[in-house]
Amino acid sequence: MTQDEIFTLIDLPYSQDGLKPVINAETVAFHHGKHLAGYVKNLNGLVKGTEYAQMQLEEIVCKASGAVLNNAGQILNHNLYFLQFSGSPKKSAPTGALLDAVNKAFGSFDAFKAEFEQKGTTLFGSGWVWLAKNPDGSLVITQEVNAANPIQKGLVPLLTFDVWEHAYYLDYQNRRADYLKALWSIVDWSIIEQRYSK
Ligand code: MN
Repeated sequence: MTQDEIFTLIDLPYSQDGLKPVINAETVAFHHGKHLAGYVKNLNGLVKGTEYAQMQLEEIVCKASGAVLNNAGQILNHNLYFLQFSGSPKKSAPTGALLDAVNKAFGSFDAFKAEFEQKGTTLFGSGWVWLAKNPDGSLVITQEVNAANPIQKGLVPLLTFDVWEHAYYLDYQNRRADYLKALWSIVDWSIIEQRYSK
């Protein structure tokens, strides 16, 4: 890391082929090593010598606009996306307080997943579908376009599926719904529970 690197590319907690066959190694290599790395490089160039150089990503996303917002938002979103998956044995469903909140908001875990997939499939263009926590602990699914994050609405982001084409085109081509359905098997709900309980 050089002094120019104010923000750094996250390391993945799995190998490039650790998420296959849901997400194959080539997609991980491009998505993490090219797309996300590009946002990090861009943001470092943009914030050097500005007030944003001292801020956390969350604060930048709530205060900035234009290219700074877009690149910071994409870093924050991708960090949450890549770090919610596990290639090793994982917790495949929520339990405890998070499961209670899911049941209260959506009726059941299966109903939640169906609504989440539907919101991801119908999001027009590039963006992200989110499970987020309201200040009172209740849950909501939101659709955010481009680099937006529910933290901008005062919500706590818990789970996100990237629906930019670069996230799935190598593996699924135009079949976004198939990609969304497949992602459930690599989500580690112990990580989502940690985010919920913070
Ligand atoms: Mn992406």
